Amino acid sequence: MKAIRFYGKEDIRLDTVPRLKCNSDELRVKVAYCGICGTDVHEYLGGPIFPPQPGQCNPHTGVELPVTMGHEMSGTIIETGADVAGFAVGQNVAINPSLDDRSYGMELCANCQAGRFNICKHWACFGLSAASGGFSEEVVVKAHNCIPLPDGVSLKAGALAEPLAVASHMIRLSGFQKGQTVAILGAGPIGLALLLLLRAQGASKIVISELTKSRALQAEKFGADIVVDPSVPPSKSAKSDAVQDAVYGIAPNGVDISFDATGIQATLDTAIAVVKPGGVVFNVAIHEKPLLINPNDFSFTEKKFLGGICYTNEDFDIALNAIAHGAVPVDDLITSVVPLEKIVEGGFLELIHNKASHVKILIQSSAS
Ligand SMILES: [Zn+2]
Repeated sequence: MKAIRFYGKEDIRLDTVPRLKCNSDELRVKVAYCGICGTDVHEYLGGPIFPPQPGQCNPHTGVELPVTMGHEMSGTIIETGADVAGFAVGQNVAINPSLDDRSYGMELCANCQAGRFNICKHWACFGLSAASGGFSEEVVVKAHNCIPLPDGVSLKAGALAEPLAVASHMIRLSGFQKGQTVAILGAGPIGLALLLLLRAQGASKIVISELTKSRALQAEKFGADIVVDPSVPPSKSAKSDAVQDAVYGIAPNGVDISFDATGIQATLDTAIAVVKPGGVVFNVAIHEKPLLINPNDFSFTEKKFLGGICYTNEDFDIALNAIAHGAVPVDDLITSVVPLEKIVEGGFLELIHNKASHVKILIQSSAS
């Protein structure tokens, strides 16, 4: 079968690889669509970050370079192992691409025992550090990796479940409750996913800060109450900057929760500044370098600083439910669909050179 494999920085290739064996506790899924994630672009530009280093193998899955890429996938089950219950050939699913102790038949670590499979001590990921990935014709996964698509959710929409599940997980961990006010720093794919789910879950006011004009327009279109360009000089009456000015306009004491979905010093500073005393600053971003925090900002106002990573299957259910209930404008989020063969020009290079025009580019794995 065909598969897009990562060899190293700026070196991904369309290869013909052997079909994988489907063991008795596994399912074979014919991939329909798989989104390109910011992580994939980071790997392309400067990896390997998550894939194994040259000459080494992943300690949990044993894979070496090259690895098949793609982890935001939907597809149709075409084979079920003899021991798999609850799934049938022909069923459409979204894939939770995480591997944890259950994937290796190991005794569960303390985190897995607590149901926190996303922070398993032996975590790995299809499409980055495992034997298959979504930029190919098929994946072979365990039953716990498959989340059935609800009625009315298309395979295209199903490929959006993974980025929406990230947003769901952050929202759940933040302790968000209906009626609260929120600020989101950054309107990239995850910032927009946060916006859509928070809107669906009853946030009273949402302020978004975004520099790029096209993304700011998307945030407006997707229901943000106020979208601020942080580079615009604030009004004379402003306390500090344009974002704080906008936040205090709707929440004079600060918002209940701020999500930093950008991850630079300026957005972290703003995220801390705009939260009310006792509120939650939530880090969604992944950082290449440490940033500075003054712990006094948390002590003196009893603000909390939290972070989160990935998702569990509950988050996929929440994401797919939101899609099924029409809370996600699927056609507006998917800005391009590109065949596997054109992934570099139509996908990676497009996201590098023409990022502002896109939210999510899907790769179509097979002609069907
Ligand atoms: Zn574990």
